[in-house]
Amino acid sequence: MKSDDIMRMAEDHLIHTYNRYPIVLDHGEGVYLYDVEGKKYLDFGAGIAVFALGYNNKEFNDAIKAQVDKLVHTSNLFYNEPTAEAAEALTEACGMDKVFFTNSGTEAIEGALKLAKKFGFERDGRTDHEIIAMDHSFHGRSMGALALTGNKHYQEAFGPMIPGIKFAKYNDLESVKELINEKTVAIIMETVQGEGGIYPANREFIEGVRALCDEKDMLLIFDEIQCGMGRTGKLYAFEHYGVVPDVMTTAKALGQGIPVGAFLARGKAADVLVPGDHGSTYGGNPLAGTAVCTTLRMFKERKLTEHVTEIAPYLEEKLDELVSKYDCVTARRGKGLIQGIVVNVTPSDIIKKCLDKGLILFTAGADVIRFVPPLIIEKEHVDEMIDKLSEAIEEL
Ligand SMILES: *Cc1c(COP(=O)(O)O)cnc(C)c1O
Repeated sequence: MKSDDIMRMAEDHLIHTYNRYPIVLDHGEGVYLYDVEGKKYLDFGAGIAVFALGYNNKEFNDAIKAQVDKLVHTSNLFYNEPTAEAAEALTEACGMDKVFFTNSGTEAIEGALKLAKKFGFERDGRTDHEIIAMDHSFHGRSMGALALTGNKHYQEAFGPMIPGIKFAKYNDLESVKELINEKTVAIIMETVQGEGGIYPANREFIEGVRALCDEKDMLLIFDEIQCGMGRTGKLYAFEHYGVVPDVMTTAKALGQGIPVGAFLARGKAADVLVPGDHGSTYGGNPLAGTAVCTTLRMFKERKLTEHVTEIAPYLEEKLDELVSKYDCVTARRGKGLIQGIVVNVTPSDIIKKCLDKGLILFTAGADVIRFVPPLIIEKEHVDEMIDKLSEAIEEL
């Protein structure tokens, strides 16, 4: 089928919740994607920070195919080996005690939210607990995750939100303190805000919220769905700060495109949920377990976090050059291979020009172009990206 026909078919039948770029992707190889007409794109979006290992990775694909031929699904009423291994590998890798596997990031947030509410219920028997989230945060689109998302525009048509969610200013400890009372049961934040515009947390802020949670017997929840899985040069971004959360969520690159997420808990939070409290038909099925095991093993074997630490300064340097060279690029922010440049023109105008030139980039927030490439990129890919992006900016 031709691109036009495929796009028309999709638009005729899919609920129009996305304004898609007029490109029909067909296959991928390494850090490149190809559309159905055979046009090649350098991908600095990685399917929204998912494809860390790059496309069509033979070792990963072989592991998935072998499991498909063996057993894809069992329900959680039985045990299976890949998921037991995935649970051990993931908890050990991030220093948490227990994990619950989900099918998406949003569901990981829902689980963390329920865990926090139950923790509060056991703490003091109340059912009117409050949770502090951050302005400009993004945690997902379901009713619980949406209630935690600090973006009025996303919430507007869908009220009432679940009650008891208050919003503090990211990186402003005083604004968090002001919201705390005896009902407060948890603080949730992204370690590096993604969708909101690529804002890394300050050390003092992270240390401050940890201290507050310890002092008031509240749970600290880090959403590492986008910034985790090696993207910042550590497997999880919180490792940069020497601060450990009580609950953590992960997804996106966790399964390299096989839909899987997880929430993890530590210490007093690890045994809060008991049989009957939570569940999922698919969550942590053998295919998802295989994806997680294989991803973690390959990250280790390929020393991907070390590679990110090596390559990221080069990307930062090249993006900083854009800030000094072009008036319309006003700042750079980020950590490792989750970077953003702030522009004073419409970001999607630049992005559309980049697509014409065979470069995929995404926005983040209203004025940021986001860079979340596969973690396997090399300097030559950074150079190619900068050349194409520079051309696009100059043409504007
Ligand atoms: C993408 C994202 C989510 C939602 O994950 P889905 O897999 O889309 O449900 C939640 N939190 C953050 C920080 C994200 O980037």
